[in-house]
Amino acid sequence: MKACESSSRPLPLCPVSKKSVPEHFRFCPSCGSEKLALRGGKCVECPDCSFTLYFNPTCSAGALIFDQQGKLLVVERANEPSKGKYGIPGGFTDPGERLEEVAVRETKEETNLDIHSVKFFASFPNVYTYREVSYAVTDTYFLAKVDSFEGLEAEEGEVAGLHRVDPKEVPQDQWAFDSLRNAIAKYLAEY
Ligand SMILES: [Zn+2]
Repeated sequence: MKACESSSRPLPLCPVSKKSVPEHFRFCPSCGSEKLALRGGKCVECPDCSFTLYFNPTCSAGALIFDQQGKLLVVERANEPSKGKYGIPGGFTDPGERLEEVAVRETKEETNLDIHSVKFFASFPNVYTYREVSYAVTDTYFLAKVDSFEGLEAEEGEVAGLHRVDPKEVPQDQWAFDSLRNAIAKYLAEY
């Protein structure tokens, strides 16, 4: 990894606190120094002990699951961010996990469906704001199949509803995230 260097890309800012992740740090997590410096927007560096911490984007994976009629399975989000908007089954990677495994695991958790034939489709950057911290995320999208939609069951507390929709008929502002909006546009252009 290169030394802490500047980036021309703007930092994703938290709409509430107006702070990106590194800007929430006030003291060096290693030695407690107050001289912690924000370098280039994606890492903090301590001039007293040389401790350096990077904030590279987090990865997520989601499953694009279409039925025989070409309807997409969407997850109506029960919680912020984007409560009430449409996402797809998906979530963040755990350490050591493959993106394909994330798509399978999160789909099982959120919908109770077992997907297979998981194939990479696209990736897009996103900003995910949780409890007043804005995280830079790389969202990845996978095409996946199910043998049956029987047993479909929304995860309590996380999913407000499961729907099968024609993606062409969903208003643009109903999609939960810019990255998903981009993935849907790419899908509609290619299929
Ligand atoms: Zn330090």
